[in-house]
Amino acid sequence: MNDIPSVFGSMVFNDSVMRSVLPKDVYKALRRTVSEGKHLDLEAANIVAAAMKNWAVEKGATHFTHWFQPMTGITAEKHDSFIAPLDDGRVIMEFSGKELVKGEPDASSFPSGGLRATFEARGYTAWDPSSYAFIKDGTLCIPTAFCSYNGEALDKKTPLLRSMQAIDKQALRVLRLFGNTSASRVLTTVGAEQEYFLIDKAMYDKRPDLVYCGRTLYGARPPKGQEMEDHYFGVIKPRVSAFMKDLDTELWKLGVLAKTKHNEVAPAQHELAPVFTTTNLATDQNQLMMEIMKKVAEKHGMVCLLHEKPFAGVNGSGKHNNWSISTDTGENLLDPGDTPEKNAQFLLFLTAVIAAVDEYQDLLRVSVASAGNDHRLGANEAPPAIVSIFLGEELTEILKSVEQGVLYTGKKRVPMEIGATVLPHFPKDATDRNRTSPFAFTGNKFEFRMLGSGLSVAGPNIILNAIVAEVLSRFADTLETAPNFGEALNDLIRRNIGEHKRIIFNGNNYSDEWVREAESRGLLNLRTTVDALPHFIAPKNEQLFLKHKVFSKSEIHSRYEILLENYAKSLHIEALTMIDMAKKEVSASVLEYQKLLAKTLSVKKSLGDAFDTTLETKLLEKVSGLGKSLYEKCGALEAAVLKAKDVKDSLESAGYYRETVYAAMCELRAVVDELETVISAKYWAYPTYGEILYSVR
Ligand code: ADP
Ligand code: MG
Repeated sequence: MNDIPSVFGSMVFNDSVMRSVLPKDVYKALRRTVSEGKHLDLEAANIVAAAMKNWAVEKGATHFTHWFQPMTGITAEKHDSFIAPLDDGRVIMEFSGKELVKGEPDASSFPSGGLRATFEARGYTAWDPSSYAFIKDGTLCIPTAFCSYNGEALDKKTPLLRSMQAIDKQALRVLRLFGNTSASRVLTTVGAEQEYFLIDKAMYDKRPDLVYCGRTLYGARPPKGQEMEDHYFGVIKPRVSAFMKDLDTELWKLGVLAKTKHNEVAPAQHELAPVFTTTNLATDQNQLMMEIMKKVAEKHGMVCLLHEKPFAGVNGSGKHNNWSISTDTGENLLDPGDTPEKNAQFLLFLTAVIAAVDEYQDLLRVSVASAGNDHRLGANEAPPAIVSIFLGEELTEILKSVEQGVLYTGKKRVPMEIGATVLPHFPKDATDRNRTSPFAFTGNKFEFRMLGSGLSVAGPNIILNAIVAEVLSRFADTLETAPNFGEALNDLIRRNIGEHKRIIFNGNNYSDEWVREAESRGLLNLRTTVDALPHFIAPKNEQLFLKHKVFSKSEIHSRYEILLENYAKSLHIEALTMIDMAKKEVSASVLEYQKLLAKTLSVKKSLGDAFDTTLETKLLEKVSGLGKSLYEKCGALEAAVLKAKDVKDSLESAGYYRETVYAAMCELRAVVDELETVISAKYWAYPTYGEILYSVR
């Protein structure tokens, strides 16, 4: 591919296309809709729709869809063709403003957590003009929000947009106090680094656990795992390289700025990082990226695994949510800046994030909670379930001196008075870059690293935006009424650092000492999804969501129900898959192998005492014993799953799956994994970890 600039965004109805195909006044009205959240009248919408359709048809599109992000699954779409019949039997391609602005998908199959009573099963989709329409597989995709008829959000985009409005409003209040009159909007920005596994399709097809659950439920450790770490530094294999090239091209066409790509620590694991953009767009693009990754992998005879933990004992996949706050005039508010005035402003925003993360640790933990991610957090590969912030030595020292009102005597001298001198810049790639921290300051942004690879970034960013908006609103309340801005600012920062410094930790987050230390600091350690989720509906968090209009009360509770239900459902499906595999294939392997051993034994014995039978006797004993355990553990898991039906309350049910069903799953797995190491490969029904992880060359 040698003409990237002309390929880039060629399938996107972006700003430059709009400018060239829309009448000037319509283009301007549309821009206003985006920048000021103004309504677009139907007449203008009709013109935009017609232009969009003409552009799309010219690119070969025949259909359109409202593309949205329901509360579970990746994305949803329902395709309608542009075709409209004429009286004379011919057709024309049509697309109206009404069709652009609003859609009515059959919503009954999407989870609503009780929001959509059955008597009004329909929801509607509403165009989000702040995210560009694009063409995918001959279909014009229109990014939309998805709501019930009472206006309650049934998707991830609606609350995300609300949270962006909340932080916009509060950050602007603060900026005005610093004399900034030029910025008219404050946006958050996100760059989501995406990890994934690539395995051979033929291997995948032979593993019901991968097919049904996205992760292996059985599998003994391979002789060679990731201990050599040679994969990370190794050259990219030809098949993977071809995939990556193809993926880049597809993403570029869709205007996704895929930038860096490399191997990850585990065999068959890789990473893709895009260039950051506005949170709303970055969220849509990450969803799109995951979808395209899967599609391109299939084309190359491979499967892209986005599960957080496809293989036990091998690193799982995460997603790093790089996040910052910036003005529409291009100023990054988490960049220290070059003047004392800017430094003071930076320190205030930094302090706001620190206070927010400390006060709402629980919500950040909730925002990354899922059955899959439970296998990662705290497993010495991903940050632990304890939320803390890494700032680096220098910035930590500076904050300490600010708090104590003393002179900072590190490498550079900073007076105690905020806003009096220039702060040093904090290098992005400092040697003290800490990879174990769940929430790390990296020069001019924060990197939230607890996300699982399959998660939509919408959830974590809704929380980040909302909690920082809340602290900023309190800061603005204080500063707006202060008689002396400078004094009040100093006092506010000092007090907040004092109150929230317990959340700052620059050490090794993987160590056992940190777990103990965090406990003594009073930090939360919400190990599992079931421990974390109830915090979502805690009164302080409900107040936050209501105050900033991010979720209504019923939206909070419906989401809570859906999350619990999803958790229980995931484990339920995994348990059934394990039972199925154990009964249908593992048992058969055990019997076949025993038959071979027993036959050998009896033939040898019939020949008299001349032959030693130690091997077949010992093996037969071992396999028989394990076979008995297999039968028992499988039965125990079946009984546990059956009893789950009796648990009616959703939190109790999730807890039951976590405690009882999951424990039974682990016991069954231990037996099967041991059998795999004992039984002849010829009789084993499934590709092993080694075969899967080294399947792509
Ligand atoms: P690297 O990790 O290779 O050093 P960076 O840390 O600069 O690169 O970037 C990692 C990710 O962070 C990229 O996706 C990048 O686009 C994103 N990023 C950089 N700056 C910002 C920002 N201001 N806001 C959000 N994301 C950002
Ligand atoms: Mg990074």
